[in-house]
Amino acid sequence: MNRILTNIQLIRQRMIQACTLADRNPAEVKLLLATKTIAPASIITALEAGETLIGENKVQELKEKSTALSHIPHQSHFIGHLQTNKVNDVIRYVSCIQSVDRISLAEKLQKRLEYEDRSIDIFLQFNTSFEASKFGADPSTATTFAKGIAQFDRLRIKGLMTIGLFSADPLQVRKCFRLLKNIQHQILNSGIPAHELSMGMSNDLETAIEEGATIIRVGTAIFGTRPFPDSYYWNEKQ
Ligand SMILES: *Cc1c(COP(=O)(O)O)cnc(C)c1O
Repeated sequence: MNRILTNIQLIRQRMIQACTLADRNPAEVKLLLATKTIAPASIITALEAGETLIGENKVQELKEKSTALSHIPHQSHFIGHLQTNKVNDVIRYVSCIQSVDRISLAEKLQKRLEYEDRSIDIFLQFNTSFEASKFGADPSTATTFAKGIAQFDRLRIKGLMTIGLFSADPLQVRKCFRLLKNIQHQILNSGIPAHELSMGMSNDLETAIEEGATIIRVGTAIFGTRPFPDSYYWNEKQ
């Protein structure tokens, strides 16, 4: 069988096992395919096998792949660092932006969405690892930040997103996910319906599911190793 399909089955098994161990219903956890650098043919293989949700990190890539994927029903989320000058483009291609991490970005989105008279789903991204290289809002100002974003009526806050620490120490990774869950608690208490938690990737999805993830984002474990290091996607200077 095709390598991608075998890998998806393995991930689905890992998800079910993690849910069972955490006493959670597997239907509560969605799989998002992180498709940066992956050619449309491979993405189509996954979608034809029944997957429905993909995430891209760069607006240019979204654009380039959109025609090739247009014949097959699926949802696209934006999961990368979003530059303010790409706002007009990105909202043409995705149903949700998971990486809203600053007020200035939300402001630009609101303006454009008002102009187009529509709205969009968003997640708030937090930097739970406190690494300078990672994007995301500061967890210590979470509620203020969420309330600030909630002022923009064209943005529907659906959840929170984070990238966990890259660490061989599972305890350190778990801390990041637990922090996001804590932040969610605070934000829910302030009346903002951020019910989804997007956290966990190829190496740490079990931990994320144990800590309450409702969306895991998996690339490498399905499509194989990427040609560029992740710093290429996560570094502000690129
Ligand atoms: C690339 C990427 C992933 C997937 O990471 P893998 O380790 O390849 O599974 C998840 N989330 C974001 C934001 C990414 O950029």
